[in-house]
Amino acid sequence: MTKALVLATFLASAALYPQSGAEPDWSKVEAETMQHYQAVLRLDTSNPPGNEHLVVDYLKQLFDKEGIPSEIFASDQNRSNFVARLKGNGRKRPLLIVGHSDVVTTDAAKWKYPAFSATREGGYVYGRGTVDDKDNLTASLMTMLLLKRLNVPLDRDVIFLSESGEEGSTGVGIGFMVSQHYPAIEAEYCLAEGGGVTRINGEVKYATVQTLEKIPRGIELVARGIAGHGSVPLKSNSIVHMAGAVARIGEWRPEIRFNETTGTYFRRLAAISPPDVAKIYRDVLSTDPKVRAAADDWLFENEPRHSSMLRTSVSPNIFTGGYRSNVIPSEAKVTLDVRALPDEDPAKFLEQVKRVVNDPAVEVRFSNQNARPAPPEARLDSEPFKVLEEVGKSIYNAPTLPAMSTGATDMAQLRSKGMQCFGIGPATDMEDGPKGFGAHSDQERLLESELHRFVRFNWEVVTKLAQSK
Ligand SMILES: [Zn+2]
Repeated sequence: MTKALVLATFLASAALYPQSGAEPDWSKVEAETMQHYQAVLRLDTSNPPGNEHLVVDYLKQLFDKEGIPSEIFASDQNRSNFVARLKGNGRKRPLLIVGHSDVVTTDAAKWKYPAFSATREGGYVYGRGTVDDKDNLTASLMTMLLLKRLNVPLDRDVIFLSESGEEGSTGVGIGFMVSQHYPAIEAEYCLAEGGGVTRINGEVKYATVQTLEKIPRGIELVARGIAGHGSVPLKSNSIVHMAGAVARIGEWRPEIRFNETTGTYFRRLAAISPPDVAKIYRDVLSTDPKVRAAADDWLFENEPRHSSMLRTSVSPNIFTGGYRSNVIPSEAKVTLDVRALPDEDPAKFLEQVKRVVNDPAVEVRFSNQNARPAPPEARLDSEPFKVLEEVGKSIYNAPTLPAMSTGATDMAQLRSKGMQCFGIGPATDMEDGPKGFGAHSDQERLLESELHRFVRFNWEVVTKLAQSK
């Protein structure tokens, strides 16, 4: 942007927003939102290697021009994190709004519109990061700009964090910020990725807010036997023992257990679903074991993500053993991807796995010693959740479902510091994922109209939580 244009924009903003607390001029906001969204989408922050400093450079220049104080934190200069803060009167503790600046890598040959072109076509914006996570990044940055320009009086600081390394290298991003610079981002509440609004046939059905996530805890099985000549089968063959153990694990479905988030999720989902599916969601909550088991079977076959939300899940994902056809191997190994319910006792769970394996020739052990902590869920009776529900109703006319992610997000690190974090996101079409337009797909896109609606949502939520009353 040229200096003259900046000045013109500034004067226009001053004229548009004469008093503090005024409502943004949304048509002007939309034009600017698109400009920043496309600008950050066009910066190639594929991780690896990341190069998130490209986004940080852009943000630094923008926030400096707006007069919003900011700081850059980096353990690796190319992979910096950006923190900006708008001061409140200190009556309440800060609110942190987060977006990650890195994106997953792309296979250029598979993209109709180049992955870093931010092409606008047919009402969509196409590009890597459009829904993961430059949407949250853009909405948060727009909220910061508007709060500043409208001179909104705040009861709490609003902190904006653009973090690097979310896609598998959290050591330079959230891990670094939490362990080395926590005071810069410390807050009572945070908003980050992990939720969204579901549209079916173009119609908004419900919003989800992520309030909890499962804890990854890998387990390894090691079968040991006697090595020998392949022409003489042995009873101790490690592959045979391992195959039996894995088959028993595969048949096993650990105990169903609900927490506040998942119980509320299934109840609310039942309330807005067609009768046949609604019955399944209600049945799975039943205290009658037979009723529950039938619903559980249906979910496992038809909605596996929902099945995983019911329990600590176990998926055997790596099987190794043997190296030539005429040698009986003395060892076979299997890695289980275990996603634990947050209240799971790891030691007791390991004992359960041993009982299911039920073979002294097979050792059962955790694969990584330093597993993530298991923070408590964000509360549903908290001020942010109520505000998210309220704004979900006013902006989307949709009910809000609290959700537990089966995968992990950077909110785990923040929650473990005592912050209550809520995952949000724009509306996307449920049909878009299977068509290959979702996060991490070989095409990624977001409806322009939904980007703009999400900016309004973000603004409403943040002002409701932070504006002086
Ligand atoms: Zn993401």
